[in-house]
Amino acid sequence: MKKILIIIISILLIYLVYYLQKPYVYSSVNPISEIDPLILVNSENAFPDNINLNLVTFQNNKVADTIYNDLKDMYNAALNSNITLKINNAYRSKEKQTEIFNEQVNQYINEGYNKEKAYKMTYLTVQIPGYSEHETGLAIDFSNQGHYDENEKMWNWLKNNAYKYGFILRYPKDKYEITKINYEPWHYRYVGKKAAKEITNQNITLEEYLGG
Ligand SMILES: [Zn+2]
Repeated sequence: MKKILIIIISILLIYLVYYLQKPYVYSSVNPISEIDPLILVNSENAFPDNINLNLVTFQNNKVADTIYNDLKDMYNAALNSNITLKINNAYRSKEKQTEIFNEQVNQYINEGYNKEKAYKMTYLTVQIPGYSEHETGLAIDFSNQGHYDENEKMWNWLKNNAYKYGFILRYPKDKYEITKINYEPWHYRYVGKKAAKEITNQNITLEEYLGG
């Protein structure tokens, strides 16, 4: 009788440990993409069409293989702090960007704006196809839609830790004049560990870092 009880308790314990185990990511990849992590893509610099980009899947999103291993380490480190990094957006093709851009233009036109005004307003919030960092596979939007507290916690953790894994807050507060994009606490860009540390410590943008 006692033996059976011990067996039942043991089985229950094994199940408990199994369910409480955090969903760490263990796989890794050997990158073959030919993309420079310091590539500058902004409103004045298009992403060249001829870059050999190898995409891999991370948490149901496509990213450049270049960032996979560091992204995995960052994801696991956040889990250690009881934070699950939720990816809302990662790689986006030029075609997809075109679709998003046109959708926004049409929405403004439907709201009664003329074509010229609709384009002008769209430029403010959507990157022109070919000029979005998401086309590089090096950029990630971290957010859990509609979860205010969860996002605040996640963004706070990223702000303090992302540089250790090669990521920077790409569009900081008060840097619109340089980046031409408003503050986006969710948008992180992989630049490699050395650059990420320098950029974060000096509180500068990628544009400033590359400008010397
Ligand atoms: Zn983004």
